[in-house]
Amino acid sequence: MARVIAVTNQKGGVGKTTTCVNLAASLAATKRRVLLVDMDPQGNATMGSGVDKNALELSGYDVLTKRATPADVIVTVENGGFDLLPANGDLTAAEVELMNEIGREHRLRLSLNSIRDTYDYILIDCPPSLNLLTVNALSAADSVLIPMQCEYYALEGLAALMNTVEQIQETVNPNLEIEGLLRTMYDPRNSLTLDVSAQLAEFFGDKVYRAVIPRNVRLAEAPSYGLPALKYDRASKGAVAYLALAGEMVRRHGSKKTSEPVAV
Ligand code: ADP
Ligand code: MG
Repeated sequence: MARVIAVTNQKGGVGKTTTCVNLAASLAATKRRVLLVDMDPQGNATMGSGVDKNALELSGYDVLTKRATPADVIVTVENGGFDLLPANGDLTAAEVELMNEIGREHRLRLSLNSIRDTYDYILIDCPPSLNLLTVNALSAADSVLIPMQCEYYALEGLAALMNTVEQIQETVNPNLEIEGLLRTMYDPRNSLTLDVSAQLAEFFGDKVYRAVIPRNVRLAEAPSYGLPALKYDRASKGAVAYLALAGEMVRRHGSKKTSEPVAV
C-alpha cells in the first residue's frame, strides 16, 4: 500500500515541484515504485518530467471529473523511473466543475484508491495556494512534506501552513500527519539560514530532515531538459542531496520495501 505524501507550501517558489520530480526519481533509484501526481494547473511537474503538458490526451482533469480512471491517464517517465499523472491548465476547469458537487474534496483520494497497491510512494505536487485542488491533495494524503527556504518570513508562512493542516485534520482528513520539513536552496554561509534552521529544530524537532537541498544551478537547469537532476548531472550537488533525502525518508519508514525491485 503506497504512502501518499502531499508536497505542499502555500508559498510559491520554495522548491515544491523541484522536490517532487527529484524525490520521485531518487525514490525510484532506491527501487521503490513511485507515482507523481501533478495537482498544479501550471503543469511544472509534468514538464519537468519530460511530458508535454500541451499535448496531453488525458490528464488530472479527466480523473477529477470522473471522465477517466488514473490508470487511463498515467504515463511512464522513462528518464525518471517513475510514473506520472500529468496535468495542465485544464485542472482549473476541474476546480470550477467540482464547485457544486457533493464530496468534491475527496475526488482525488477516492480515485487513487484503485491504484494504491501498485506503488510504494505517491507524491502529490500542490499549487501554491489553498484551493480545492490543494484540499483534494491533503484529503488524499497520509502526510505532508513541506519544502521551505530558511529566510526571515519562512516561519510566519509555516505558522499559516500548520493552521491549514489543523483545519484539514478537523474536517476532511483526521489522519493527516507531518511527514517532515525540508530545507531547500540552503546556503550555510548565510547566518540567517543558520538562525532559521535552529528555530525550526526547536519547534519541529526530528520532523526537520537532516538532508538539506543546497542552492544548485543543475537543479534549476534540469527541468528545461525535462529531466530529474539525477539523469541530467548525476554527480551534481543537487542530485546527490535528493538521493540523500530519499535515503533518509526510506529509513524513517523502517526501510520496508513493499515491492519487487524494478530496473532503473
Ligand atoms: P515551487 O514549486 O514551490 O513554486 P519550484 O520547485 O518550481 O518551486 O522552484 C522555484 C524555482 O527555483 C525554479 O526555477 C527552480 O528551478 C528553482 N529551484 C528550486 N530548487 C532549487 C535549488 N535547490 N537550487 C537552485 N534552484 C532551485
Ligand atoms: Mg510548483
